[in-house]
Amino acid sequence: MKASAFSYARATSVGNALELLVAHGDKAKVLSGGQSLMPAMNLRLICPELIVDIGEISELRGIAVSGGVLTIGALTRHVDLANSSEIAAHAPLLTEAIAHVAHPAIRNRGTLGGSLAHADPASELPACMVALNATVVVRGQTGERRIAAGDFFKGIYETDLSAHELLVAVELPVVKKNAVHFFHEFARRHGDYAIAGLAAQAIVEGEAFGDLRLVFFAVGDRPVLAKAAARLVKTTITPELLTQASPALAQELDPQDDQQASSNMRRHLAKVLLARCVGALLGRPDLAAGGTA
Ligand SMILES: Cc1cc2nc3c(=O)[nH]c(=O)nc-3n(C[C@H](O)[C@H](O)[C@H](O)COP(=O)(O)OP(=O)(O)OC[C@H]3O[C@@H](n4cnc5c(N)ncnc54)[C@H](O)[C@@H]3O)c2cc1C
Repeated sequence: MKASAFSYARATSVGNALELLVAHGDKAKVLSGGQSLMPAMNLRLICPELIVDIGEISELRGIAVSGGVLTIGALTRHVDLANSSEIAAHAPLLTEAIAHVAHPAIRNRGTLGGSLAHADPASELPACMVALNATVVVRGQTGERRIAAGDFFKGIYETDLSAHELLVAVELPVVKKNAVHFFHEFARRHGDYAIAGLAAQAIVEGEAFGDLRLVFFAVGDRPVLAKAAARLVKTTITPELLTQASPALAQELDPQDDQQASSNMRRHLAKVLLARCVGALLGRPDLAAGGTA
C-alpha cells in the first residue's frame, strides 16, 4: 500500500517548523527519521495533509555535557547514541539499550526525538528516559516547556506534546559515581519490539540500594516506574523480601494480551526481570533466580 497524497515542506529552522505546524494544526505531521511515520502512512493508519521535514535543522542535532547535565538534541540518531563516548560515560544505560532498538538500517535513520514523540509503550528509549530521570524539552511559538519524562508519556502513542510543538532535546543528569544500571528485554528475535523489558538505574550503598528506579516497558500503555521498588531500598534484600515485592509489582502492571504474549505471561516475565535485575545490580546470584511466585 502507498501513502495517500500529501504536501511536503522542508523546515529551515525551528521557528519555520513551528509556523508551519501552527498554520496546519493536526493536519500536519513532523518528519524526523521517518522509521515509524512512513510505515504508518503507507499503511494509511494516518493520512496527514502536510509533512514538515525537520531533518535539516542542525540546532536539533548533537550531544553536549555542561554543568552536570547531558543534553541530547531531538534529531540525534540511534546510531549516534550508540557510538557516542559522552553517552557511554554519562548515561551508559542508553548505550546498552540502544543495541536492542530495531536493526542497523533503522538505527541509521531513527532519532531519539522521533522515538519519544512516537511513544510506543514497547520502545526502549522512553523507558530509559524515565529510568534516567530525564527532562523532555519541547518548544512552541510562545516558548519552551520542560517536562519530566515520567509525565511526558500519556498512553499508547500519546504524549504531552501538542500538535503545535516540537520536541527539541532531552536533558539528563550525568550519572553519579556509585550508580549502576541494568537493561534486559524479552523479544522474539534480537531487534524486535520487546514482549517485556526493564531499564533500571540504582545507587548502591554497601550491600543495599540507596535509590532504585525500575522502569518496565511493554507491560502497560506507557513506561511504568515501579512503586514496588521502594520496598527494596535502604534495606537488606533477602529472597523473602523479593518474593513479597514481586506480586506487588505484578499488581502495578496492566499488560495487554496480543499475538506475542498473554497479559499473564508478561506479568511473569516482569517478575523474572525484577529478580534478575536485583541480583545483577547487587552482585547476588542467589537472588537472580527467585521472586517469581
Ligand atoms: C522494522 C522496524 C522495527 C523497529 N523496531 C523498534 C524497536 O525494537 N524499538 C524501538 O524503540 N523502535 C523500533 N522501531 C522504530 C524506530 O526506532 C523509529 O526510529 C522511532 O520510533 C521513530 O523515530 P524516527 O526519527 O524515525 O521518527 P519518525 O518516524 O519521523 O516520527 C515518529 C513520530 O514522532 C513525531 N515526531 C518525530 N520527531 C518529532 C519531534 N522532534 N517533535 C515532535 N514530533 C516528532 C512524528 O510526527 C511521528 O508522529 C522500529 C521501526 C521499524 C520500521
